[in-house]
Amino acid sequence: MEEPKFSVFDEVKLKAELERCGIKHLHAVAIQSYLLAHKDAEPHEVPDLPKAAYPLLRSHFKSTTSKLKVEHFSSDGTTVKLLIEMQNGQSVESVIMRHDATAGLYAGGPRQGSPRATLCVSSQVGCQMGCTFCATGTMGLKGNLSAGEIVEQLVHATRITPIRNIVFMGMGEPLNNYQAVVQAIKTMTGHCFSVSPSHITLSTVGVIPRILSLATDLPGVNLALSLHAPTQELRCQIVPAARAYNLVKLMAAVDSYIGASKRKVFIEYIMIGDVNDSEELAHQVGALLQDRQVVLNLIPYNPTLTKADYKASREESIHSFQKIIREVYNVRAIVRREMGQDIAGACGQLAIGEYKKDSSHPQKASTDLPDIEELFTASVRKP
Ligand code: SF4
Repeated sequence: MEEPKFSVFDEVKLKAELERCGIKHLHAVAIQSYLLAHKDAEPHEVPDLPKAAYPLLRSHFKSTTSKLKVEHFSSDGTTVKLLIEMQNGQSVESVIMRHDATAGLYAGGPRQGSPRATLCVSSQVGCQMGCTFCATGTMGLKGNLSAGEIVEQLVHATRITPIRNIVFMGMGEPLNNYQAVVQAIKTMTGHCFSVSPSHITLSTVGVIPRILSLATDLPGVNLALSLHAPTQELRCQIVPAARAYNLVKLMAAVDSYIGASKRKVFIEYIMIGDVNDSEELAHQVGALLQDRQVVLNLIPYNPTLTKADYKASREESIHSFQKIIREVYNVRAIVRREMGQDIAGACGQLAIGEYKKDSSHPQKASTDLPDIEELFTASVRKP
């Protein structure tokens, strides 16, 4: 059986091994860039490296340790779901969502920009947090991804379409695999990929100690908090892991993050019929969020994807919930409607049955929602 090898996109490992062999670690970026551009090349085929690099690369590294097993295109072509197999045989999902940033109006005027793609990445295989609305939560934790395996999701996606934004909202709680996620983001924002930190968003159910260190470890990266309820009691029902993270302390951590990072925080709220979508709860959410620099994202629950006895919120409930939060509490609140956006907002809500395997399907960019970049720009105004 072949020995497992390291990914060249595991940058810390690659640099350490190069230095151990007396080779300047600056060559790491050249190796990564060449292999990103040459899909079928092996690490020892990268030209113009010091001689000592070749036996090292041949024996220890692969250009990608994972394989893209399946690509599923949504029926409207706006979303591509990737099934990626790791070298240990486990699989994770990533999702590409396309937006047309020029379509429609924004703040009453024409939108600026161009078609963009957002990649939703996984950070773990399965998840231990057990959120009751989430398919991944039913799996339990099967393992952590390495930094290289996280970055390789971007490699596979980049070969399908240029990626502008990255959201850590796929399988897993990214702050439970903190070191690998931090390393992966440093590689994604480095010379090879050059993704802007402000185009990366980390979503968490609220791992307080890590929220506090994020602003220092990953300056400029956005934070999204999966809130889902305005009280500790209800939150513990929907997000069992919340028992470890008291809501008052969690919001204090969010305040600290906002203060240190000078960035808005994205608040995720999955709308579950007759569970967390009443007008009374809307007032509680509004009161909790008012005067905080946040954007609230209301995500209609998709009842086909988990075994929980939940149902979708009614259209009118979502509308009045949003209206209360906007008009009474002056908090920016957005409702996500499209499949790709739903996936981005609720890790684990991935359904292979929703997709049509047809890579020749004509591509069309989505039009009626702002993409994630706009939600975090300084120009975002409260309604
Ligand atoms: S919603 Fe996210 S944190 Fe919760 S169980 Fe699913 S993958 Fe884990």
